[in-house]
Amino acid sequence: MSDDKLKEYRRKRRPARSGEPAGERAESGSNGRLFVIQKHDASNLHYDLRLEVDGVLKSWAVPKGPSTDPRDKRLAIATDDHPLDYADFEGTIPDAEYGGGTVLIWDRGGYRNRKADTAGMQACYENGLIEFDLDGHKLAGGYALTRFRREQGQWLLIKMDDDAADARRNPVNTQRRSVDSGRTLHQINREAGGEH
Ligand code: MN
Repeated sequence: MSDDKLKEYRRKRRPARSGEPAGERAESGSNGRLFVIQKHDASNLHYDLRLEVDGVLKSWAVPKGPSTDPRDKRLAIATDDHPLDYADFEGTIPDAEYGGGTVLIWDRGGYRNRKADTAGMQACYENGLIEFDLDGHKLAGGYALTRFRREQGQWLLIKMDDDAADARRNPVNTQRRSVDSGRTLHQINREAGGEH
């Protein structure tokens, strides 16, 4: 079903060596859809926003991470679809492998398509405008992803102006630990035998 969509993901990886998931997890089902934001300390530190859509995780790399201030527009670059079980991945990927570096589960939870009555997520993705509500540990309420340069896969991630909006919060800087393990990036790296 989702095998074709994950072709690029698999082509670039040898999971047995990198320790990353091969893509076996089943769809999360009727309890709502899954989202995860993974802080990824690669050659350029970024945050990978992933939304479950039709059995895969649609993915964007957000260099500055998400904001809770509706005035901020955060660049989000579309990346390869990832398998659902990647939402549980935290650890260090050997540098030589594609996407190497340390991964921390920065936030995770459910999300809801705000336009579900009129358009499915796949259609919203293709149309370049996704509006969704997050129910995470750090992030909540409405967010919009708007594509502005199709060829380069460039989107903007913007907080909607709702009850969860807060210009004074800066969770990327003040809430750095993993919501899965409570660990910092440094601890994950160290426990994986990293040098830093
Ligand atoms: Mn990444």
